[in-house]
Amino acid sequence: MTDFKRDGSHLSFCPPVEKWDDWVEYDPQAWPRRVERHYQLVPTICFNCESACGLLAYVDKETGEVAKFEGNPKHPASRGRLCAKGPATINQIHDPDRVLYPMKRTGPRGGGKWARVSWDEVLETFGSRIRKAFQEGRGEEVMYHVGRPGHDFIMERTLQAWGIDGHNSHTNVCSSSARLGYLLWHYADRPSPDHANARFILLLSAHLESGHYFNPHAQRIIDGKMAGAKLAVMDPRLSNTASMADYWLPTYPGSEAAVLLAMAKVILDENRFDAAFVKTWTNWEELEVDGFRAKGQPFEAVIEALKKHYARFTPQFAEKESGVKSETVVKLAREIASAGSRFASHLWRGAASGNLGGWQPARALLLLHVLTGSVGTEGGHNLNSWNKFVPRPFKVPPPQKHWNELLYPPEWPLCTHEMSFHLPHFLKEGRGRLEAYFTRVFNPVWTYPDGFSWIEMLRDEQKIGLHAALTPTWSETAWFADYVLPMGFSSERHDLMSQETHAGKWIGFRQPVLRTLRERAGEKFEYTYQANPGEVWEEDEFWINLSWAIDPDGSMGIRQWFESPYRPGQKLTVDEYYGWIFENSVPGLPEEAQKESLTPLEYMRKYGAFEVPGDVYKLNEKPLTAEDLAGSQVDTGGVITKESKPVGVMIDGKAVVGYKTPSRKLELFSKTMADWKWPEFTLPEYYRSHIHGSAQSASIGSPGEDFDPQYTPVVQWPSDARGDVYMLLPIFRLPNLIHTRSGNAKFLYEISHKNPLWVNPVDAKQLGSIRTGDLIKVHTEIGYFVLHAWVTEGLTPGVVACSHHLGRWRINEDEQVERMSSAWVDLKEVGKGQWKMRQVSGVKAYDSDDPDTKRIWWSDAGVHQDITFPVHPDPISGMHCWHQMVRVERAAPEDRYGDIFVDTNLSHAVYQRWKALARPGPGPGGLRRPLWIPRVVRPVEAAYYVKQT
Ligand code: SF4
Repeated sequence: MTDFKRDGSHLSFCPPVEKWDDWVEYDPQAWPRRVERHYQLVPTICFNCESACGLLAYVDKETGEVAKFEGNPKHPASRGRLCAKGPATINQIHDPDRVLYPMKRTGPRGGGKWARVSWDEVLETFGSRIRKAFQEGRGEEVMYHVGRPGHDFIMERTLQAWGIDGHNSHTNVCSSSARLGYLLWHYADRPSPDHANARFILLLSAHLESGHYFNPHAQRIIDGKMAGAKLAVMDPRLSNTASMADYWLPTYPGSEAAVLLAMAKVILDENRFDAAFVKTWTNWEELEVDGFRAKGQPFEAVIEALKKHYARFTPQFAEKESGVKSETVVKLAREIASAGSRFASHLWRGAASGNLGGWQPARALLLLHVLTGSVGTEGGHNLNSWNKFVPRPFKVPPPQKHWNELLYPPEWPLCTHEMSFHLPHFLKEGRGRLEAYFTRVFNPVWTYPDGFSWIEMLRDEQKIGLHAALTPTWSETAWFADYVLPMGFSSERHDLMSQETHAGKWIGFRQPVLRTLRERAGEKFEYTYQANPGEVWEEDEFWINLSWAIDPDGSMGIRQWFESPYRPGQKLTVDEYYGWIFENSVPGLPEEAQKESLTPLEYMRKYGAFEVPGDVYKLNEKPLTAEDLAGSQVDTGGVITKESKPVGVMIDGKAVVGYKTPSRKLELFSKTMADWKWPEFTLPEYYRSHIHGSAQSASIGSPGEDFDPQYTPVVQWPSDARGDVYMLLPIFRLPNLIHTRSGNAKFLYEISHKNPLWVNPVDAKQLGSIRTGDLIKVHTEIGYFVLHAWVTEGLTPGVVACSHHLGRWRINEDEQVERMSSAWVDLKEVGKGQWKMRQVSGVKAYDSDDPDTKRIWWSDAGVHQDITFPVHPDPISGMHCWHQMVRVERAAPEDRYGDIFVDTNLSHAVYQRWKALARPGPGPGGLRRPLWIPRVVRPVEAAYYVKQT
């Protein structure tokens, strides 16, 4: 304990490492007495979003319990700082409603009756069912479906060890469209902006408050701003991020690509582009557009063709589409051009995930980077794969031989990820069934569109044989499982993570804090659940043990992948799995550990993170080695191939690695799009989203003059829908909530527990002088929801908005539910596929082990909007297009707050209409999908070809 000084010099930002074994603080509960408490500080990794920030668990030496979580200063990305959700981990581990033991349902699915079972019973049940499925050649009936991964590679390894194509994810409701836009340019499907060194930052996101890697990014955006960078934010909402910007561009949703292409036009017309970069690093020689063919033409002719092609994107056109003044478009284009190679940007969800064609803004945004030469540069746009570091484990199983069409169906050959949100519709169409289904930290009934179709699927035992929900919390989806299996929070599990948070590479090690400390003190545990609260386990050990249960004698060839690399034939331990990686696959880590006489595993347990040395800029310019070049050939376009696969490219007479595209350059022109039946989209383009103003102004079922039925299905409303037509923006996050996992964090729910409908005053007047707090009814294509209005100028007129972060509900009043965050509802199927939900009560104070639950003062749990949305698959990326046209009216006297109605027959019809927009494979040569485009858990190449009958 340090003496108090008035100038604050006794304060430290974070406890220094040398004091982590005995850190002393005054007990705040004992105030005003000065009572010292001694803590051991153990690093781990936050599990409350994808950023993977470093936590320090403060373990009270007297009680042996975790008392709080703060930031780990040794973590290279988060640097000791956290958002509100990191420290709220303490609520989660002490949540009185948490799942502590494996539970099995005892009545019908969804009936709400549960009994405690042992982990052995769980392993035996699933092991024998899966074994039988594998032995009978039904591997495709085993599926793992992940919400928040929170780890790298281990699950891909497990599924490939099982030999199945069974990985499903949530990505197609999250980021698929942005990914497609990026990968068409440079294979890498995510950006890694170097905000800290930028001179101009353009965000199509809310990255100072929420979004992908937002805490590490927010720090760097502020670093950049403090060093003089200008910040522009494109967002229809006046978000906290927009309020911090130098320029707020409240674009009408879906018009973003028009604005970006208008900026590109200004840069091209004013000849302010980096001609040397464009000439060297794009595939301009392949360009074919508007009857022009670049082959044999000089570079200058290509630039003229581009200028002609983009001529219609005048700043005035951008203003008409977006509402942003043409002068602003020109001014920002010039500022971006002036920033040159130090132009950084970010786009992840927002424009990309809301809109039909949401991958176009990502392509158009990257065109600005290409024109300014800011790809791969300090202060520019870098590739996620250059910053994210995923080390390999001791043995990697071969790729699976099968292709699962429930994951990658023929209709969407260019979808970046599994068509996960269609699963209920696929099963309804008779495309398959599931024998064993694992949902893992995943709550599709609540987070996905069309949740009632999920309920119908999950409760059908013909469609889903056995369902385990691996989850840290009770949820709307867990309710319909056969087994609910408790998995640990940030301080209760092992995982290895890395993210592209900044211009650097790092790994972070999540660890079960109490097990680590007790093992340091000499105790031994076979499994993490023996040291965790109740019998809360971790996935790593669960999958190892389940793999042994599937193949107990090793005869199926599965067990071998889960045997120790150090003790042949013995079961792999988590220490051995990660210890081997740290010893063998992380450059520089063994040497760093050696300096402190630690093993690499001990080093990671001590510090929780490691900065991996290496270059991070211009990795496309890395020379190929003599070994790389042995047996290679150079084609006429300069692409270097080996065994018929591109491995590099000749640039100015030098053989370099380039980008992993077919041309090994940045693909200004995408031949892939032409080859896969979308020749109109070979260049970055803009086409009007399904929520464009022309669709909005159309009378129902009769499109406006700009409407192109080739791309956009007609909105068809239920016959009884009334009200005025608005565009609903349903996808913004609240900064302190965690999709589906905030329900057990009392600090967070006390701050945020309402999700009213944002309505501009102009629209409020139009709707009959609606005032804040009035009840309002929102009709979607398949039903409606009723909520309160919030009248605000912080939103573009014509658009209404609602955060997806609230509206949790529960069927049981007080058992196996999260009570502090959910409304107790009466849920009824009033006709076949017709679902009605009405709130019985909101949140109330209740008795528990935590005295704070008696102090709950809020009653609102919000309203669940996503469940009233139909599925809208983008025909190219496969992404669910979240934005939608809705009809809004003042609620009727019989309507009550939180009322929901949905007809799943209508939702299946909407699915069919959107599916009809797709242009199915196979593509050239009978391929299911282009070989060069990444795929999660990639199978053998032969599986890419549709078998000829
Ligand atoms: S940004 Fe917040 S929630 Fe996400 S990992 Fe960091 S501290 Fe946790």
